[in-house]
Amino acid sequence: MKILRSAPVKSALNKLRESISTIRFAMLSTYIAVTLITLILMCVYIIGILSENLYSEKNTMLFAKANIISQTVANVWNDEEDANVLYLRIEDIVERSLAGTNIRGVVTNTSYIVLYDNNSEADMVGKVFMRDVLKRAIDGEQADSMFDSDSGRTSTVSVPVEKDGIIIGGVYLAENVSSISDTISTIKTSLIIFSVLIIFIIGMLSIGISYIVTQPMSEFIAAAKAISKGDFSHRVSVRGVSEMAQMGRTLNYMCDELNALDEKRKNFVSDVSHELKTPMAGIKLLCDSLVEADDPDMDTIREFLGDMSEEIDRLTRLINRLLTLTRLDAGTNINLSETDITALTASVMRSLKNLASEKGISMEYTFKGCNERSLMIDYDKIYEALYNIIDNAIKYTPEDGAIKVRIGSADGFCVIEVEDNGPGIPDAEKTKIFDRFYRLDDSRARDTGGTGLGLAISREAILLHGGDVEVEDAPDGGSIFRIRLPLVK
Ligand code: ADP
Repeated sequence: MKILRSAPVKSALNKLRESISTIRFAMLSTYIAVTLITLILMCVYIIGILSENLYSEKNTMLFAKANIISQTVANVWNDEEDANVLYLRIEDIVERSLAGTNIRGVVTNTSYIVLYDNNSEADMVGKVFMRDVLKRAIDGEQADSMFDSDSGRTSTVSVPVEKDGIIIGGVYLAENVSSISDTISTIKTSLIIFSVLIIFIIGMLSIGISYIVTQPMSEFIAAAKAISKGDFSHRVSVRGVSEMAQMGRTLNYMCDELNALDEKRKNFVSDVSHELKTPMAGIKLLCDSLVEADDPDMDTIREFLGDMSEEIDRLTRLINRLLTLTRLDAGTNINLSETDITALTASVMRSLKNLASEKGISMEYTFKGCNERSLMIDYDKIYEALYNIIDNAIKYTPEDGAIKVRIGSADGFCVIEVEDNGPGIPDAEKTKIFDRFYRLDDSRARDTGGTGLGLAISREAILLHGGDVEVEDAPDGGSIFRIRLPLVK
């Protein structure tokens, strides 16, 4: 059975498929964007903190050395002294302070004339050594600066040389700090490699997660596609207690129901075909016999036509009952009106009185007290429901039997009981007899003109009113059919 094979369904499934791809792409791009932003911020922060620390550590160390040199030089400074002696003294101080480093140390007087330079190759002693940091130091500042050249990055500091509160010169120290830049760029490269790796892992994970998250949706689409092709055996796997699992359970339940419905439909169609085939075959046989008979007399023709008429009556009864069932299945066209249930029951019994008396069956009616005699019901439908049940009681009760009809009330329901002293119904069949085309004894039921639809119609009509019907054994054999219909509130 193809139930969903329309263009809107196809386009809905396609849209669902598209939205799954969109969800997957959105998840992937969101994860990657968030990770990328986090990693960029983290790298910028780490590099910033690291370079600031490394450079400021270097600066502090340079200032410490410059200040020691400045103080020591101030102590030995004597204007009267011979320039060579002063040079040697300063040389001694600077050499000792900068031993084991590659720091360039220059000491000048306030006119920027170099008194000592440990870079002898520069040959600056006695010459003017003008640097911005040095100028700021001679102006009394603890100055520092950084510059880049072909040989890399250089960090410089300059401090004044003070004696008795008067600035008498300046100390200039410079150190190539390319190693710090190298360290930072190595760390930068490592961080970039690390970030690319993280992005790759997160990308892979997010693809995996997006597939896991959208997997149930893909399964739902596959199920919907299968259902649309009439395959109700398809089930989705249900795990956990999430909304998706809930949806999966609902979908599986729906498939079960559709499967059962499809099964019922198939059985119904085959039952109907079977039921229609029997009278049709009968009519065909009668027709053929009549056609083949050599010069049949009028009585034979009349007998055959009478038999055919009976088969046609059976067909008509069957078709009418099928139509009634179809209308009840639709559940529409119900005309509720305030109805006196006792009057309705009495009317049913009146119309079946002759049938009962033909078999010598007595019919007794007891009104046990129904609080509300009037019910909101569809008169015709409940009439037919009750008619079928009392008609069955007459049909299946042997001659000279007794049928008792009682009306009472319980728990907000009007209860109508039809009791007979017929053969009764075995326990295993008590629910089945309400199924369509179900007959306990097929040939006997057919002989009584039964279609196997009477009780199915009764039950559908009663259920449509919010009531129910059941059967139980009567105390002295036979059966009691109990109908419950809701009382008017
Ligand atoms: P039918 O048209 O064959 O009577 P129903 O649907 O009315 O079909 O009943 C289904 C079957 O239930 C009957 O074939 C019969 O075997 C059984 N049945 C119904 N009413 C009674 C009854 N009062 N006593 C015994 N059997 C009954």
